[in-house]
Amino acid sequence: MHVLYVCTEVFPLLKTGGLADVSAALPHALQQEGAQVTLLLPGFAAVAAGFDPIGQAVRLPARGATTLPAGLGPVWPDGHTVPTLQAGRLRASGQPALLLQAPALFDRPGNPYLDAQGQPWSDNPLRFGWLGWAAALVGTGLVPGLTALGTPPDVVHGHDWHAGLAMAYLHLLKGHGRQAPASVFTVHNLAYQGLCGPEWLGRLGLPPSVFSMQGLEFFGQLSFMKAGLQYADALTTVSPGYAREITGPEQGCGLDGLLRHRQDRLHGILNGVDERVWNPEHDALLSHTFSASDLRGKTLAKAALQTELALQVAPNALLLVVVSRLTEQKGLHLLTEVVDSWVRQGGQLAVLGAGDAGIEDALYRCAQRHPGLMALRLGHDEALAHRLMAGGDAIAVPSRYEPCGLTQLYGLRYGTLPVVRAVGGLADTVTDCRLEAIDDGSATGIVFHDFSAPALHTALQRTLALYRRPDDWAKVQQNAMAQRFGWGDAARRYRRLYQSLRPGAAAATPPHAQPGTASA
Ligand code: ADP
Repeated sequence: MHVLYVCTEVFPLLKTGGLADVSAALPHALQQEGAQVTLLLPGFAAVAAGFDPIGQAVRLPARGATTLPAGLGPVWPDGHTVPTLQAGRLRASGQPALLLQAPALFDRPGNPYLDAQGQPWSDNPLRFGWLGWAAALVGTGLVPGLTALGTPPDVVHGHDWHAGLAMAYLHLLKGHGRQAPASVFTVHNLAYQGLCGPEWLGRLGLPPSVFSMQGLEFFGQLSFMKAGLQYADALTTVSPGYAREITGPEQGCGLDGLLRHRQDRLHGILNGVDERVWNPEHDALLSHTFSASDLRGKTLAKAALQTELALQVAPNALLLVVVSRLTEQKGLHLLTEVVDSWVRQGGQLAVLGAGDAGIEDALYRCAQRHPGLMALRLGHDEALAHRLMAGGDAIAVPSRYEPCGLTQLYGLRYGTLPVVRAVGGLADTVTDCRLEAIDDGSATGIVFHDFSAPALHTALQRTLALYRRPDDWAKVQQNAMAQRFGWGDAARRYRRLYQSLRPGAAAATPPHAQPGTASA
């Protein structure tokens, strides 16, 4: 079983969110399950810097090549060389990968998706159109001279809107008689859709026939996300809860009708924790490691963190942490409304994040009001994220929606109790500390329901109340640390899904599970 895994980020080389963690962990876990996995990544400078090439780069066939159906595939800007594919390995992990080398598209400073003004790069359709096209060409064996892969892939597995057009191009090449591998498309966040105007259709070499309700047209625009959802053989998303939610109008982002239509093809498979990176017992980024049976290191980590962040070094002050993109999705504007009462009651708050200027400003003003009690670090800092996870008592994830969420899983593993809103993967992974759940040993955190500042306030009151009952706190903390959200389980589900898509497998495999069962 050979899988071409098409994505834009991979930890530790390039990371803007959980997608990078998944792209590092899932291919590794799939390999442990016996699959062969090759990553296909855009040649961003950060990725190229950690990539060891093997052999010569191979030119992709240009549009109009006799081997290709006429007119299909993206154009190439005049005056630049046609993209190449370079086979090799990611240096840190040894992971086999293909790099799509196209300096005109990928070699530029700043965020991989957004320009300096925070707007999508104006040529994003071409950039990620080429990613999809490259995936489809590799998948259908149309790249002459690409021998490094050995056998052609059995499955092309694309991730999020950036890889959406791979599914459309594969479908179209199949329509032209090419033998195509099975295709799987995973939604990590349905809200980011990769929309562009219909004028892109020609530049992307997509026939007018696909620009329809039954194709990739979305309210008069071309949607990369919809292309993925429409044309992939199977769809997955990163938790059973989110798989259910996106089939409804509230979380469906306008695509719920299509998702309901394809419900029998949609699977919720929960993400996991990469124990090689997130394990308090041997976390290389911590000066004090610890385990559930010996939490002394956690106490030391808290004191060190308070010192580092210029917070009062108060062992009994409940230290709430946040590690997050600062976007409306994450609900952190709710936190700014409750900070004053939180610190008034003796709580401390430490926030690490980057994102929307408005949320950054609001948090900054809170931190200014509460020196010694609230710390704010703006930017991306992997090592500090680990120190916060270790030194915090609780971690807040008050999201409006949350496809899976990883920080609450890391919080559980590090005994930093998650305070989460009951939505998507958060609801799937955290059990509220109501009294009977403390008694029966199932409580692992604090869960609230309404997306409102008063509801978050009440949840934080309950967090403080639990903290004042050290025996109960310790019980919940032990339950939390005993949870295991391993990648092995997820990898087995993906593998079964791939196998069910093989030609001739339909009769042998059970019908697709309903969304929400997490079964694949
Ligand atoms: P999302 O993918 O929606 O951003 P997840 O919870 O799935 O949310 O994943 C977020 C990942 O990014 C986690 O690994 C988290 O530790 C990390 N992260 C988020 N913000 C920062 C930051 N400012 N610095 C370091 N790591 C961060």
